[in-house]
Amino acid sequence: MKKKMLTGFRPTGKLHLGHLHGNIGNMIKYQKDYENFFFLVDWHALTTEYQNPGNIKSDLIECAIDLVALGIDPEYTHLYRQSDIPQIAELTLYFSMITPLSWLERCPTYKEQIIELSSKDISTLGFLSYPVLMASDILIVNSDIIPVGEDQLPHIEITREIARRFNYLYGKYFNEPEAMLSKATRVPGIDGRKMSKSYNNAIFLSDDYEDIKNKVGKMITDPERIYRKDPGHPEICNVFSFYKLYVNEDRLVEIEKRCRRGEIGCTDCKKEIAEIIYESLGEFRERREEIIKNVNYIHEILRKGSIDVKRIAESTISDVRKKIGID
Ligand code: SF4
Repeated sequence: MKKKMLTGFRPTGKLHLGHLHGNIGNMIKYQKDYENFFFLVDWHALTTEYQNPGNIKSDLIECAIDLVALGIDPEYTHLYRQSDIPQIAELTLYFSMITPLSWLERCPTYKEQIIELSSKDISTLGFLSYPVLMASDILIVNSDIIPVGEDQLPHIEITREIARRFNYLYGKYFNEPEAMLSKATRVPGIDGRKMSKSYNNAIFLSDDYEDIKNKVGKMITDPERIYRKDPGHPEICNVFSFYKLYVNEDRLVEIEKRCRRGEIGCTDCKKEIAEIIYESLGEFRERREEIIKNVNYIHEILRKGSIDVKRIAESTISDVRKKIGID
Protein backbone atom coordinates (compact mmCIF):
# COMPACT_ATOMS: atom_id res chain seq x y z
CA MET A 1 0.00 0.00 0.00
CA LYS A 2 1.22 3.48 -0.85
CA LYS A 3 1.89 5.93 1.96
CA LYS A 4 -0.40 8.94 2.17
CA MET A 5 0.92 12.43 1.45
CA LEU A 6 -1.18 15.52 2.16
CA THR A 7 -0.92 19.20 1.34
CA GLY A 8 -3.39 22.03 1.91
CA PHE A 9 -3.46 25.33 0.04
CA ARG A 10 -5.04 28.57 1.06
CA PRO A 11 -7.27 29.53 -1.87
CA THR A 12 -5.75 32.95 -2.26
CA GLY A 13 -6.31 32.97 -6.01
CA LYS A 14 -3.51 32.49 -8.46
CA LEU A 15 -0.47 30.59 -7.22
CA HIS A 16 2.95 32.18 -6.98
CA LEU A 17 6.56 31.05 -7.02
CA GLY A 18 6.53 30.58 -3.25
CA HIS A 19 3.89 27.87 -3.66
CA LEU A 20 5.71 26.22 -6.54
CA HIS A 21 9.09 26.00 -4.83
CA GLY A 22 7.58 25.42 -1.40
CA ASN A 23 5.61 22.20 -1.49
CA ILE A 24 3.80 21.87 -4.83
CA GLY A 25 7.08 20.94 -6.47
CA ASN A 26 7.46 17.99 -4.08
CA MET A 27 3.84 16.93 -4.49
CA ILE A 28 4.15 16.79 -8.27
CA LYS A 29 7.54 15.12 -8.17
CA TYR A 30 6.32 12.30 -5.92
CA GLN A 31 2.74 12.17 -7.19
CA LYS A 32 2.95 8.60 -8.45
CA ASP A 33 4.78 7.29 -5.38
CA TYR A 34 2.10 8.16 -2.82
CA GLU A 35 -1.64 8.33 -2.35
CA ASN A 36 -1.97 12.10 -2.53
CA PHE A 37 -4.42 14.40 -0.78
CA PHE A 38 -4.33 17.91 -2.16
CA PHE A 39 -6.98 20.24 -0.81
CA LEU A 40 -7.98 23.88 -0.84
CA VAL A 41 -8.42 25.24 2.66
CA ASP A 42 -11.30 27.68 2.44
CA TRP A 43 -11.97 27.44 6.20
CA HIS A 44 -8.35 28.40 6.90
CA ALA A 45 -8.81 31.36 4.56
CA LEU A 46 -11.73 32.50 6.73
CA THR A 47 -9.45 32.83 9.76
CA THR A 48 -7.92 35.96 8.24
CA GLU A 49 -10.57 36.92 5.64
CA TYR A 50 -13.74 36.52 7.71
CA GLN A 51 -14.58 40.20 7.28
CA ASN A 52 -14.30 40.01 3.49
CA PRO A 53 -14.96 36.41 2.45
CA GLY A 54 -16.37 37.44 -0.95
CA ASN A 55 -13.41 36.27 -3.03
CA ILE A 56 -12.71 32.94 -1.35
CA LYS A 57 -14.93 30.88 -3.67
CA SER A 58 -13.63 32.35 -6.94
CA ASP A 59 -10.04 32.37 -5.64
CA LEU A 60 -10.42 28.68 -4.87
CA ILE A 61 -11.23 27.91 -8.50
CA GLU A 62 -8.30 30.04 -9.73
CA CYS A 63 -6.04 28.08 -7.40
CA ALA A 64 -7.41 24.72 -8.61
CA ILE A 65 -6.85 25.77 -12.24
CA ASP A 66 -3.20 26.59 -11.46
CA LEU A 67 -2.68 23.31 -9.61
CA VAL A 68 -4.01 21.21 -12.47
CA ALA A 69 -2.05 23.30 -15.00
CA LEU A 70 1.10 22.65 -12.96
CA GLY A 71 0.60 18.92 -13.23
CA ILE A 72 -1.58 17.79 -10.32
CA ASP A 73 -3.18 14.73 -11.87
CA PRO A 74 -6.58 13.51 -10.55
CA GLU A 75 -5.57 9.98 -11.49
CA TYR A 76 -3.01 9.99 -8.66
CA THR A 77 -4.26 12.81 -6.44
CA HIS A 78 -7.47 13.53 -4.54
CA LEU A 79 -7.99 17.24 -5.22
CA TYR A 80 -10.78 18.62 -3.02
CA ARG A 81 -12.21 21.54 -1.09
CA GLN A 82 -11.83 21.54 2.72
CA SER A 83 -15.39 22.74 3.38
CA ASP A 84 -16.78 19.81 1.37
CA ILE A 85 -15.57 17.52 4.17
CA PRO A 86 -17.65 18.44 7.27
CA GLN A 87 -16.02 15.61 9.23
CA ILE A 88 -12.89 17.81 9.45
CA ALA A 89 -14.91 20.31 11.52
CA GLU A 90 -16.17 17.58 13.82
CA LEU A 91 -12.65 16.25 14.37
CA THR A 92 -11.49 19.81 15.14
CA LEU A 93 -14.12 19.96 17.87
CA TYR A 94 -12.82 16.77 19.51
CA PHE A 95 -9.20 17.89 19.18
CA SER A 96 -10.00 21.30 20.67
CA MET A 97 -11.11 19.48 23.85
CA ILE A 98 -7.68 17.88 24.31
CA THR A 99 -5.35 20.64 23.08
CA PRO A 100 -3.83 22.81 25.83
CA LEU A 101 -4.00 26.54 25.05
CA SER A 102 -0.27 26.86 25.74
CA TRP A 103 0.57 24.71 22.66
CA LEU A 104 -1.22 27.24 20.46
CA GLU A 105 -0.04 30.40 22.20
CA ARG A 106 3.63 29.43 21.92
CA CYS A 107 3.38 28.60 18.20
CA PRO A 108 5.93 30.90 16.44
CA THR A 109 3.84 31.34 13.28
CA TYR A 110 0.94 32.60 15.41
CA LYS A 111 3.11 35.30 16.99
CA GLU A 112 4.69 36.18 13.64
CA GLN A 113 1.38 36.50 11.81
CA ILE A 114 -0.20 38.65 14.54
CA ILE A 115 2.61 41.15 13.89
CA GLU A 116 2.75 40.77 10.08
CA LEU A 117 -1.02 41.04 9.61
CA SER A 118 -1.51 43.87 12.11
CA SER A 119 -3.94 45.62 9.71
CA LYS A 120 -6.41 42.77 10.28
CA ASP A 121 -8.17 41.91 13.51
CA ILE A 122 -7.10 38.30 13.87
CA SER A 123 -7.10 38.05 17.64
CA THR A 124 -9.87 35.47 17.34
CA LEU A 125 -10.41 31.95 18.60
CA GLY A 126 -10.47 30.73 14.99
CA PHE A 127 -7.04 32.16 14.23
CA LEU A 128 -5.48 30.94 17.47
CA SER A 129 -6.80 27.41 16.87
CA TYR A 130 -5.62 27.32 13.24
CA PRO A 131 -3.10 24.53 14.06
CA VAL A 132 -5.92 22.40 15.53
CA LEU A 133 -7.88 22.68 12.27
CA MET A 134 -4.68 21.81 10.44
CA ALA A 135 -4.19 18.73 12.63
CA SER A 136 -7.72 17.63 11.71
CA ASP A 137 -7.03 18.17 8.00
CA ILE A 138 -4.06 15.83 8.30
CA LEU A 139 -5.39 13.23 10.70
CA ILE A 140 -8.85 12.87 9.16
CA VAL A 141 -7.11 10.83 6.44
CA ASN A 142 -4.31 9.65 8.74
CA SER A 143 -1.69 11.05 6.40
CA ASP A 144 1.89 9.79 6.74
CA ILE A 145 3.82 12.60 5.07
CA ILE A 146 3.34 16.36 4.88
CA PRO A 147 5.52 18.38 2.48
CA VAL A 148 6.16 21.73 4.16
CA GLY A 149 8.41 24.75 4.27
CA GLU A 150 10.56 25.26 7.36
CA ASP A 151 8.14 27.83 8.77
CA GLN A 152 5.36 25.22 8.91
CA LEU A 153 7.34 22.74 11.02
CA PRO A 154 5.83 23.94 14.33
CA HIS A 155 2.35 23.13 12.97
CA ILE A 156 3.39 19.59 12.14
CA GLU A 157 4.83 19.24 15.62
CA ILE A 158 1.50 20.34 17.15
CA THR A 159 -0.30 17.80 14.93
CA ARG A 160 2.01 15.07 16.22
CA GLU A 161 1.42 16.20 19.81
CA ILE A 162 -2.36 16.14 19.31
CA ALA A 163 -2.18 12.65 17.73
CA ARG A 164 -0.06 11.44 20.68
CA ARG A 165 -2.43 12.94 23.21
CA PHE A 166 -5.48 11.41 21.52
CA ASN A 167 -3.77 8.00 21.35
CA TYR A 168 -2.77 8.27 25.03
CA LEU A 169 -6.28 9.25 26.18
CA TYR A 170 -8.43 6.97 24.01
CA GLY A 171 -6.16 4.25 22.61
CA LYS A 172 -3.81 4.12 19.63
CA TYR A 173 -5.49 5.30 16.45
CA PHE A 174 -3.67 8.15 14.67
CA ASN A 175 -0.31 8.12 12.88
CA GLU A 176 2.25 10.73 13.84
CA PRO A 177 2.84 12.34 10.43
CA GLU A 178 6.34 13.18 9.22
CA ALA A 179 7.27 16.52 7.66
CA MET A 180 8.98 16.42 4.26
CA LEU A 181 11.06 19.57 3.98
CA SER A 182 11.19 21.01 0.48
CA LYS A 183 14.60 22.08 -0.89
CA ALA A 184 13.64 25.74 -1.15
CA THR A 185 12.17 26.20 2.27
CA ARG A 186 11.50 29.91 2.15
CA VAL A 187 11.11 31.74 -1.16
CA PRO A 188 11.55 35.48 -0.68
CA GLY A 189 9.08 37.92 -2.13
CA ILE A 190 10.25 40.96 -4.07
CA ASP A 191 10.69 42.84 -0.76
CA GLY A 192 12.74 40.05 0.84
CA ARG A 193 9.99 38.88 3.22
CA LYS A 194 8.42 35.46 2.68
CA MET A 195 6.56 35.48 -0.65
CA SER A 196 2.86 35.90 0.03
CA LYS A 197 -0.11 37.45 -1.70
CA SER A 198 -1.07 39.16 1.55
CA TYR A 199 2.31 40.92 1.66
CA ASN A 200 1.80 42.10 -1.92
CA ASN A 201 5.26 40.85 -2.85
CA ALA A 202 4.48 37.80 -5.00
CA ILE A 203 5.44 36.78 -8.52
CA PHE A 204 2.44 34.82 -9.81
CA LEU A 205 2.85 31.80 -12.07
CA SER A 206 0.47 33.36 -14.59
CA ASP A 207 2.23 36.76 -14.64
CA ASP A 208 3.24 37.84 -18.13
CA TYR A 209 6.81 38.78 -18.98
CA GLU A 210 6.29 42.51 -18.34
CA ASP A 211 4.89 41.83 -14.85
CA ILE A 212 7.77 39.52 -13.99
CA LYS A 213 10.33 41.99 -15.33
CA ASN A 214 8.82 44.86 -13.32
CA LYS A 215 8.63 42.82 -10.13
CA VAL A 216 12.18 41.50 -10.43
CA GLY A 217 13.26 45.08 -11.19
CA LYS A 218 11.99 46.12 -7.74
CA MET A 219 13.93 43.42 -5.86
CA ILE A 220 16.36 44.60 -3.24
CA THR A 221 19.96 43.69 -4.05
CA ASP A 222 23.11 44.72 -2.17
CA PRO A 223 22.47 48.27 -0.88
CA GLU A 224 26.23 48.94 -0.60
CA ARG A 225 26.67 48.51 -4.34
CA ILE A 226 26.46 51.96 -5.87
CA TYR A 227 28.56 51.46 -9.02
CA ARG A 228 28.81 48.43 -11.28
CA LYS A 229 32.42 47.77 -10.28
CA ASP A 230 31.70 47.89 -6.52
CA PRO A 231 32.28 44.44 -4.96
CA GLY A 232 28.92 42.86 -4.10
CA HIS A 233 27.62 40.62 -1.34
CA PRO A 234 25.36 38.02 -2.95
CA GLU A 235 24.49 36.50 0.43
CA ILE A 236 22.30 39.53 1.22
CA CYS A 237 20.90 39.93 -2.30
CA ASN A 238 17.32 38.94 -3.05
CA VAL A 239 18.03 38.33 -6.74
CA PHE A 240 20.80 35.89 -5.83
CA SER A 241 18.25 33.88 -3.80
CA PHE A 242 16.42 33.30 -7.09
CA TYR A 243 19.62 32.22 -8.83
CA LYS A 244 19.86 29.51 -6.16
CA LEU A 245 16.44 28.26 -7.23
CA TYR A 246 16.96 28.31 -10.96
CA VAL A 247 20.56 27.76 -12.06
CA ASN A 248 23.03 24.89 -11.70
CA GLU A 249 25.93 24.90 -9.27
CA ASP A 250 28.55 26.00 -11.86
CA ARG A 251 26.51 29.00 -12.94
CA LEU A 252 25.78 29.90 -9.34
CA VAL A 253 29.48 29.89 -8.44
CA GLU A 254 30.22 32.02 -11.52
CA ILE A 255 27.58 34.62 -10.60
CA GLU A 256 28.80 34.72 -7.03
CA LYS A 257 32.43 35.27 -8.07
CA ARG A 258 31.59 37.92 -10.65
CA CYS A 259 29.35 39.74 -8.16
CA ARG A 260 32.06 39.77 -5.48
CA ARG A 261 34.62 41.05 -7.99
CA GLY A 262 32.27 43.75 -9.27
CA GLU A 263 32.25 42.29 -12.78
CA ILE A 264 28.46 42.26 -13.30
CA GLY A 265 25.73 44.78 -12.71
CA CYS A 266 22.52 44.19 -10.76
CA THR A 267 20.54 45.19 -13.86
CA ASP A 268 22.17 42.30 -15.80
CA CYS A 269 21.23 39.83 -13.06
CA LYS A 270 17.67 41.10 -12.87
CA LYS A 271 17.19 40.84 -16.64
CA GLU A 272 18.53 37.28 -16.66
CA ILE A 273 16.46 36.13 -13.70
CA ALA A 274 13.25 37.63 -15.14
CA GLU A 275 13.85 35.71 -18.39
CA ILE A 276 14.67 32.47 -16.58
CA ILE A 277 11.52 32.67 -14.45
CA TYR A 278 9.29 33.48 -17.43
CA GLU A 279 10.72 30.70 -19.61
CA SER A 280 10.47 28.12 -16.82
CA LEU A 281 6.70 28.62 -16.78
CA GLY A 282 6.08 28.14 -20.52
CA GLU A 283 4.43 24.70 -20.28
CA PHE A 284 2.33 25.83 -17.34
CA ARG A 285 0.97 28.80 -19.32
CA GLU A 286 -0.01 26.60 -22.27
CA ARG A 287 -1.87 24.10 -20.07
CA ARG A 288 -3.58 26.89 -18.15
CA GLU A 289 -4.93 28.43 -21.33
CA GLU A 290 -6.42 25.04 -22.33
CA ILE A 291 -8.09 24.52 -18.96
CA ILE A 292 -9.62 27.98 -18.92
CA LYS A 293 -11.56 27.05 -22.07
CA ASN A 294 -13.40 24.36 -20.04
CA VAL A 295 -13.56 25.29 -16.34
CA ASN A 296 -16.25 22.61 -15.74
CA TYR A 297 -13.39 20.13 -15.90
CA ILE A 298 -12.03 21.67 -12.68
CA HIS A 299 -15.42 21.56 -10.91
CA GLU A 300 -15.74 17.88 -11.83
CA ILE A 301 -12.26 17.08 -10.45
CA LEU A 302 -13.12 18.82 -7.16
CA ARG A 303 -16.47 17.03 -6.92
CA LYS A 304 -14.92 13.61 -7.44
CA GLY A 305 -12.07 14.37 -5.01
CA SER A 306 -14.55 15.36 -2.28
CA ILE A 307 -16.61 12.16 -2.72
CA ASP A 308 -13.51 9.97 -2.35
CA VAL A 309 -12.14 11.80 0.69
CA LYS A 310 -15.52 12.04 2.40
CA ARG A 311 -15.70 8.26 2.38
CA ILE A 312 -12.39 8.06 4.29
CA ALA A 313 -13.38 10.92 6.63
CA GLU A 314 -16.70 9.27 7.54
CA SER A 315 -14.86 6.12 8.52
CA THR A 316 -12.35 8.10 10.66
CA ILE A 317 -15.08 10.00 12.49
CA SER A 318 -17.02 6.81 13.15
CA ASP A 319 -13.87 5.24 14.70
CA VAL A 320 -13.04 8.40 16.68
CA ARG A 321 -16.51 8.57 18.23
CA LYS A 322 -16.20 4.94 19.28
CA LYS A 323 -12.69 5.52 20.68
CA ILE A 324 -13.86 8.49 22.74
CA GLY A 325 -16.90 6.49 23.81
CA ILE A 326 -19.68 8.76 22.64
CA ASP A 327 -21.01 6.40 19.99
FE1 SF4 B 1 22.82 40.56 -6.56
FE2 SF4 B 1 23.69 40.24 -9.03
FE3 SF4 B 1 23.71 42.64 -7.87
FE4 SF4 B 1 25.38 40.74 -7.06
S1 SF4 B 1 25.36 41.71 -9.06
S2 SF4 B 1 24.19 42.13 -5.74
S3 SF4 B 1 24.11 38.90 -7.29
S4 SF4 B 1 21.90 41.41 -8.36
